[in-house]
Amino acid sequence: MTVTAAFLADLRSCLPSDQVLTSPEDLIVHGYDGTWLDHLPDVVVVPRTTANVAAIVQVACAHGVPLVPRGAGSGLAGGAVPACGGVVLSTTRMDQILAIDRSSLIAVVQPGVVNATLQNSVERLGLFYPPDPASLNQATIGGNVATSASGPRCLKYGGTKDYVVGLEVVLASGEVVRLGSRSHQPTADHHLLQAFIGSEGTLGVITEVAVRLIPKPEHRGTVMAAFNHLEDASDAVSRILIAGVVPLALEMMDQVTLRCVEEYLKVGLPIDSEAMLLIDVDGGTEAVGLQVDLVADVCRAAGAAIVQPAASDAESARLWRARRSTSSSFGRLRPNKLGEDISVPRSAVPTMVRAVQAIAREYDLLIPLFGHIGDGNLHPNILCDLRDRTEMTRVVAAARAIFAASIENCGVLSGEHGIGMLKRDFMSQCLDKGALALLRRIKRTVDPMGLLNPGKVFD
Ligand SMILES: Cc1cc2nc3c(=O)[nH]c(=O)nc-3n(C[C@H](O)[C@H](O)[C@H](O)COP(=O)(O)OP(=O)(O)OC[C@H]3O[C@@H](n4cnc5c(N)ncnc54)[C@H](O)[C@@H]3O)c2cc1C
Repeated sequence: MTVTAAFLADLRSCLPSDQVLTSPEDLIVHGYDGTWLDHLPDVVVVPRTTANVAAIVQVACAHGVPLVPRGAGSGLAGGAVPACGGVVLSTTRMDQILAIDRSSLIAVVQPGVVNATLQNSVERLGLFYPPDPASLNQATIGGNVATSASGPRCLKYGGTKDYVVGLEVVLASGEVVRLGSRSHQPTADHHLLQAFIGSEGTLGVITEVAVRLIPKPEHRGTVMAAFNHLEDASDAVSRILIAGVVPLALEMMDQVTLRCVEEYLKVGLPIDSEAMLLIDVDGGTEAVGLQVDLVADVCRAAGAAIVQPAASDAESARLWRARRSTSSSFGRLRPNKLGEDISVPRSAVPTMVRAVQAIAREYDLLIPLFGHIGDGNLHPNILCDLRDRTEMTRVVAAARAIFAASIENCGVLSGEHGIGMLKRDFMSQCLDKGALALLRRIKRTVDPMGLLNPGKVFD
């Protein structure tokens, strides 16, 4: 859509001039996210306050112009891509930590605060904010809330949805609504608050977030275990949990991923293994030592070919660097990737991984797979080249086959990245018809003109 001069004039009349951006460069850098999807917005706004956001939403609503909230644009579902043009509302200048209440264990932030900034700030005070998407150095808390982001540590501590206690939201009408509280007790509107978590910018613009914190665990320990058979790795995961250890993180990299990362980093990964587990435990010094020994014993008993507890923090950091470098290492092999985010019951992980391997063979594609195996959340990444049209036909077919295999194995389309545009067309396959209709009714009630992030999730 192309916005009118009258719309731009109204927008400029209610905002400081440096908050309205229309240069081609500004439009281009706000037209994409972490996927390959893109679409140019007509105008970008960079508000600093809730009042600025409310004014923008009111003007957009009065002119019937679509509005797409945006954090860092690191999303992997096309959620922040302005599919219908209109306004992109970037929260990157709403980047203030408003309060860290050490005695109440609560932090209050503007939505544009980067996840790692919040983590580092609270950790300096001996506190801990567990949700840790691998994109934590870019992704914003507003984006994390809107996508209900998770991360490796969520196995033990839960994801974003478990930490948000209060939200301030600007609705499509321009009204400012405060939900929840700044305490650990759920309020009467608790379930209403939860509706906005994972709503991907379709129900309102999040302008303030209150999260609960916990005391920072004293120590952590890391165990690396490599398996010649994927099924043994999966068995080890169940055995660890049955033994009574809930690891801080329980990650898996398959052989294709190990080889990609090793070629990139040269850190000595066990590339002949079919799967590698990276297991972190945390707690007091003694508890960490006992858990490391127990995890190592369980992995050996489950048939691990190599078991290596990290001898130092540096050794642990080296292994985690490998895990966090998966995406960069794929980029060296092929220019593009379709990063999937399926989640299946833990017991179905081996079947799902074998299904992905069969799909890779059938469509002649390279599909490295890694993920938060403790949660059954797997990321098969279909490596490809967008310029190769025949290959892209195979990529789309393979993605459909992976979704179908996930649903067949009682899984879901998205463990943590959201639905956005990428998985929108599969919603009817994985949700009950009545549930989807109800979601659409809620959307129409809150946003009757359908101006907030159109073309996503329900559309
Ligand atoms: C290398 C890499 C690794 C990743 N690892 C993980 C991971 O481990 N776990 C995980 O969960 N995700 C991961 N992601 C995906 C992504 O980082 C998360 O979805 C993140 O929460 C998005 O935050 P963002 O600030 O970039 O949001 P954006 O991409 O800008 O937006 C994402 C969605 O949120 C909406 N939104 C953003 N801000 C607001 C707001 N203030 N109000 C209302 N709606 C808003 C947008 O409209 C959009 O629908 C990864 C991405 C990359 C590139």
